[in-house]
Amino acid sequence: MTKGRPERLTVLGRRFSVTDVPEDMRGVVYGLMDPDTRRLHIADDMTGFDTVDTLIHEVMHAIRYTQGRENGGEVEEDYVRSLATGITNVFRDNPGFLRWIASTLKKDQT
Ligand SMILES: [Zn+2]
Repeated sequence: MTKGRPERLTVLGRRFSVTDVPEDMRGVVYGLMDPDTRRLHIADDMTGFDTVDTLIHEVMHAIRYTQGRENGGEVEEDYVRSLATGITNVFRDNPGFLRWIASTLKKDQT
């Protein structure tokens, strides 16, 4: 497991646990969002980049699900894949941007 990977995430007010891909799905999928159990399954044998990309990808599916929108269709998969990989690249290439986001959101909470 990637060190420090969150064990739980709140997505639009709903708690999701973050856990490894089920044994029978290992080698088949890198990630999976299970709306019934509210679990985000993430393969534990990927690079750091792929782990972040996959977790953001599954969070995006969870966002769509909690908004009551399309879940799991081809169109959703296409843009979730594109946007998750895209934003992961932007975060990697602009570490100051991520720090600014965290710091700015924290200021709003105080
Ligand atoms: Zn997907």
